[in-house]
Amino acid sequence: MSEEAKIAYLREKIAHARGQSRGFSVVLFLGIFSAVLGYVWLENLTFTILGVFVALVGGGFSLYFDVQKTRLLEELGKMASTSKCPKCGKQTPQGNFAFCPFCGANLTSKQE
Ligand SMILES: [Zn+2]
Repeated sequence: MSEEAKIAYLREKIAHARGQSRGFSVVLFLGIFSAVLGYVWLENLTFTILGVFVALVGGGFSLYFDVQKTRLLEELGKMASTSKCPKCGKQTPQGNFAFCPFCGANLTSKQE
């Protein structure tokens, strides 16, 4: 897999994790809402417990995807920092450059 394809793949995974995290935050909110509704208005224990359960599951998954997103962002940041010239340390432009445009050092040998 090329560096660019890896970055695109990571970006896609980050977007997915972000969407999942957001989706489960809604589940968390609905769970809390159901629990409060069940406790305060309906005075229904089953409904309240169900709401708490849904909130816990939603919150757990939301947290899980949030952690995953953070981890992927770190990975992406690390990858971005590797697109530096190993010789002069200048950031090389996006794209597959065989040689550093600043000092002419070979960039193809640093892969992986
Ligand atoms: Zn250079």
